[in-house]
Amino acid sequence: MKAEIIAVGTEILLGQIVNTNATYLSEFLSHLGFDLYHQQVVGDNEGRLLVSLEEASKRADLVVVCGGLGPTEDDLTKQTTAKFLGKELMYDDEAMERLEVFFQHSKRGVTENNKRQALTIEGSTTLQNPAGLACGLLAEHKGVYYLLLPGPPREMKAVAKEGLPLLKELLPNDTRLDSTYLRFMGIGESFLAEKLDDLIRHQTNPTLATYAKSNEVMLRITAKSTTEKEAQLALDSMEQLVMDEVGEFFYGYGEELTIEEVVVDLLKQEKATLSVVEGVSGGLCQGRLTDIKGSSQVFKGGVVAYSLETKRQLLEFAKEDQQAAEVLNQVQVESLAKAIRQVMKTDYGLAMIGVGGPDKVDNKEVGSVLLSVSSKERTISHELVIKRERDYIKDGAVKHGLNLLRKEIMK
Ligand code: ATP
Ligand code: MG
Repeated sequence: MKAEIIAVGTEILLGQIVNTNATYLSEFLSHLGFDLYHQQVVGDNEGRLLVSLEEASKRADLVVVCGGLGPTEDDLTKQTTAKFLGKELMYDDEAMERLEVFFQHSKRGVTENNKRQALTIEGSTTLQNPAGLACGLLAEHKGVYYLLLPGPPREMKAVAKEGLPLLKELLPNDTRLDSTYLRFMGIGESFLAEKLDDLIRHQTNPTLATYAKSNEVMLRITAKSTTEKEAQLALDSMEQLVMDEVGEFFYGYGEELTIEEVVVDLLKQEKATLSVVEGVSGGLCQGRLTDIKGSSQVFKGGVVAYSLETKRQLLEFAKEDQQAAEVLNQVQVESLAKAIRQVMKTDYGLAMIGVGGPDKVDNKEVGSVLLSVSSKERTISHELVIKRERDYIKDGAVKHGLNLLRKEIMK
């Protein structure tokens, strides 16, 4: 079953609002098991909407039109769709009743304009709107289905939900889509795609999609099947193939997972504590750690050593060689990690320093990031260059720093 979304609204075309409805509906429909191959945006214009409907009806089994169901002159989705299907508009009793209840206390009663929101197309199924006044509908014509939804996102979601049972019925015997999300660090999207080239090129079911995120990559594996067991088997075997290629860069599962969550969990499991000293990232790492519920069990605190003096003071306080503060290098980052661990009396000390730009520092180019993890056993460090803007470098220092810690804990 192919579905196509048409978002109606001149403001979307002009960039005044973001087409978040399309984002939501794409996910909603694809999770139900519809295939999405095209998407359209069209202004509030009858002629052009007719063309869009014509196009969509040729290539989709379900055409979803959202926006333009309101009471004003520029809301012409229902009239235009009715015209396209060669059908009449009529008032839906329940939607009209809801309008009347809503306008009970208004002196003017329901105005003609407002009544338009209770219109439906003859022969279609009305979808009531629990979040507003404009009802939606599902119509069928020559084997193609037309789902009309209001534009305001809250109402769109509410009416789409009303239509859910009917949409499920359109699909052949319970097709289901299940996805696993794998997260990777230390490998770019293009390199990941290259490593998985064979799998991606030959994908049919399950399918693979890579998403470039800030300083990391997410891979989605999606299986289409009829039972949960079948889905699990398909996902597991594809995951195994993926891991064989790029397992060394994998850090966790989940569409919303973060590296700080992973690290906090690991520290809890190990009953280990952490302190952090950061330069270039200016406290970002410590801020993010404290976003995680329960992080106080493992994260003890730290220092933002943004200036040379602060680095010297920390080293002096920890009775480490203050000389290390002078040059931005491996010795400095390792000394800082050791120092913070000793001062804060934690199991691990994590240090991240670097060059956010615009100028080089101690011959380290802009984007240089130096990371170190210190434990009672040993102190290690790692250096990398992130050739991007300042925010991205700071984010990278934090994520790669936490990832270095993750690997050290798991070793
Ligand atoms: P209304 O009754 O408010 O007129 P409507 O169904 O006629 O609703 P539109 O007039 O097209 O819908 O849009 C109303 C508002 O809904 C827009 O101003 C915008 O805030 C939001 N909206 C419409 N389409 C989208 C979209 N594709 N993505 C996100 N928001 C949207
Ligand atoms: Mg409107």
